[in-house]
Amino acid sequence: MRIKLVAGNWKMNKSFSEAEELLFDISEELQNNKSKAEVVICPPYLYLEMATDIAAENDFAIGAQNVSNFEKGAYTGEISAGMLHKMDVSYCIVGHSERRQYFNETNQVIAEKVKQLISNDITPIFCCGEKLEDRESGKHFEVVKSQIKEALFDLESDKISSVIIAYEPVWAIGTGKTATPEQAQEMHEFIRNTIKDKFTQKVSDNITILYGGSCNAKNAKELFACKDIDGGLIGGASLVAEDFVKIVNSF
Ligand code: PEP
Repeated sequence: MRIKLVAGNWKMNKSFSEAEELLFDISEELQNNKSKAEVVICPPYLYLEMATDIAAENDFAIGAQNVSNFEKGAYTGEISAGMLHKMDVSYCIVGHSERRQYFNETNQVIAEKVKQLISNDITPIFCCGEKLEDRESGKHFEVVKSQIKEALFDLESDKISSVIIAYEPVWAIGTGKTATPEQAQEMHEFIRNTIKDKFTQKVSDNITILYGGSCNAKNAKELFACKDIDGGLIGGASLVAEDFVKIVNSF
C-alpha cells in the first residue's frame, strides 16, 4: 500500500542513554504532530529492544539498519530477520550505499535479505541510487534500474507491494548536497515506471518511494510536494528531535 512515510536512519550514532533520550524527545515532539505520515526510527541493533518498548507506547515504529541474508546457523556476528521480528521490529533498511560501499554488499545479497525480511513480515526499505560519476556520465537511470532489477525483480507481485524503495543518490548522502526536487521527481517517476513495466500499473501506483540524501527541515516540504515522492529516509537530520519532526510535518 502506498503511504506517506518518514524514516530516520541513526547509523552508528548515540550512546544507549542518548538514544533513549532522543526517542523520548521525538515522542514528545510528535504529540502535536498533525502529519499523516508513518514515522519509523532505525537505531543501532543494540538499542532495538529498548526502542520497541518505547515505540509500543507511542506513535512511531522501529526499524533495523541491516539484517542477515541467512535464515539461521553458523554466521558469526549476524542477526536474522526472525530475531528482528521477535523483537517487534517492523521495518529494515537494506542495500544502503554505506553497506554496498564498505561491506561489499551486492544486489544478489540484498535480494536475499529482502526475501528474508518479507518472509518474516518485516517491511524492507530498499535503498538504491547512483554515484556522482554515474550521474556525470549520464548513467544514473541505468544504474538505478539495474539495482532494482537485480534485487527486486525476482519477487512475486504480491511481495513487491510490501517493499518500500528509497532513492538515495550517493553524492547527496551526508554531503549537504541535496538533489533538486526536479532531479528527485524525475528519478522517482523513472523508478515507478520501471516497476510498472516489470509488474503492473496497480503495483507501481501502490508502491511507496522515499527520497534520501541531505533531506532536512528546510528542503523537505519542496521535495515531498513532488508527485512521486512519498516521504524521506533521513540520516543526519534524524539525530535532532525537533528537526526530524519538522521533516515529518512537511507534508
Ligand atoms: C542516509 O544515510 O540514508 C541519508 C539519507 O543520510 P543524510 O540524510 O545524512 O544525507
